[in-house]
Amino acid sequence: MKAAVIGSGVGGLAISIRLALKGYEVIVYEQNNHAGGKISEIRARGYRFDTGPSLFTLPELTKELFEAAGKKVEDYLPYIKLDNICTYFYEDGTQIRAVGNPERFASEVEEQTGESSGRVLKHLNRCKELFDLTARIFLFNSLHKVRTYLTWRVLKGILQFYKVDAFTTMHERNRIRFKDERIVQLFDRYATYNGSNPYAAPATLNVIAHIEHRLGAFFPTRGMRSVAVALENLARDSGVLFQFSSKVGKIVVESGRAAGLMVHNEYVPCDLIVSDCDIHYLYNHLLTGSKQFRISEKNLSSSALIFYWGLKGKFKSLGLHNILFSGNYEAEFQHIFEKRSIYNDPTVYIFISSKVVPADAPDKAENWFVMINVPPDTGQDWDRIIADTRQYIINKINRILKTRVEDLIVFEQVSSPLTIGKSTLSCRGALYGAHSNSVFSAFLRHPYRHKSIKNLYFVGGSVHPGGGIPLCLASAKIADREIKPVWTNELKVQENNKAYRISSQNLQE
Ligand SMILES: Cc1cc2nc3c(=O)[nH]c(=O)nc-3n(C[C@H](O)[C@H](O)[C@H](O)COP(=O)(O)OP(=O)(O)OC[C@H]3O[C@@H](n4cnc5c(N)ncnc54)[C@H](O)[C@@H]3O)c2cc1C
Repeated sequence: MKAAVIGSGVGGLAISIRLALKGYEVIVYEQNNHAGGKISEIRARGYRFDTGPSLFTLPELTKELFEAAGKKVEDYLPYIKLDNICTYFYEDGTQIRAVGNPERFASEVEEQTGESSGRVLKHLNRCKELFDLTARIFLFNSLHKVRTYLTWRVLKGILQFYKVDAFTTMHERNRIRFKDERIVQLFDRYATYNGSNPYAAPATLNVIAHIEHRLGAFFPTRGMRSVAVALENLARDSGVLFQFSSKVGKIVVESGRAAGLMVHNEYVPCDLIVSDCDIHYLYNHLLTGSKQFRISEKNLSSSALIFYWGLKGKFKSLGLHNILFSGNYEAEFQHIFEKRSIYNDPTVYIFISSKVVPADAPDKAENWFVMINVPPDTGQDWDRIIADTRQYIINKINRILKTRVEDLIVFEQVSSPLTIGKSTLSCRGALYGAHSNSVFSAFLRHPYRHKSIKNLYFVGGSVHPGGGIPLCLASAKIADREIKPVWTNELKVQENNKAYRISSQNLQE
């Protein structure tokens, strides 16, 4: 049984491994000349930059995939738990170090802002309750299968839906919980982790604070790119084949089932197809004419403008993750989600992997990934925006860190919604598929399979449960659960990391 996976993003890699473990002959077709999709890198002049994700959370989902293949994650992807999650800087000079221990973090908040540590811990407890109520229903199950709703755990969750804080916005909830605006802003920021707007998204998204503060923030000791490399290696060790520089042009449907692909104008027949490409791209280019699930470009998540700066010199005040907050958060989000433009005092995120991976920058130097959230591409003049934003960012960094950063930049490359869209074919360069600005967002995401075409499945950030590395891994898990293994009459036993196939005949004997 031949399975074809379109795209080698984290979702595509994860499903390719799972299908190989089920006995399929798997080929991954990738338009780029490397695997990983948004998890990519730049190497130049002694610097290495992760170009996409920088936060590694819920590593147990990655671990689980390696365990399913009978391997140890640490042999492929060593990672550490961060003691210092993030350093926050405000325009008034306040600095907060969000340490990995919630009690110490709460004390730090109280020390720096006067906001009671008790309120912080109470909020984190509420976030945990939300996670316990929602994670199993929304993240690890298909919302488009009746069976999902028939399990007691899910039914119980649905009956308790009134508890999941879906009808208050994240910002409203955080304003009720905290007196200090700076702490409201700190917790509002978690809406951006899936490209959403804290002034519109349901307070249910406060679960993200629980994931980071209680379950932990992690980092691979070889940088974020190593997540993709590790998954590709595991896929190869599981028997998956890769065809790079191979853009799939069409999915061929015959008698209501996905029968094959057109690659380089050649027909490739297959028994099963899983698409990891952006769902908008799929319907607009690969499945034209097919009955379309209702998807709207209006609901796209935010995108990013990123400056990769090779810097001479080191900044002791900065850690791995740093946030320089906007003086007017609400105006910033109005620009992103309503005006579709860029605010002149944006929140600046600086990620410096060389703080953990010294080899990522030369001696006495640092690799800065400097990012702001921006709207997806709707035809804005990005050259002008990049020039303006570069100056806004430099002004802000200089103001807050009391430096002249422009004099320290020895290498620069820029990434915008246009380049992100081109390199990963994600719709308008959106980072996370659709945003979660509505109560119904989770239900409106595309399901794991096509409604009417047999043998066609979907994974990745633009389908349920959404964007971000952990959710893409979860999407592969959901699709995998519904795909039958090839050896239905055989038992697969894993022993000493080797898979033995015992035929049913042998078992009977
Ligand atoms: C700047 C940035 C910052 C981010 N920060 C974080 C973060 O800190 N933490 C986090 O968890 N997530 C983060 N994300 C989101 C995360 O990277 C994505 O959600 C995830 O990597 C997407 O994986 P995917 O499976 O959807 O595939 P993608 O990464 O979107 O890859 C899809 C792949 O399919 C290929 N493809 C598409 N169509 C075809 C075709 N027709 N033929 C062949 N190949 C095709 C593309 O070339 C691409 O390689 C960030 C993303 C970006 C861009």
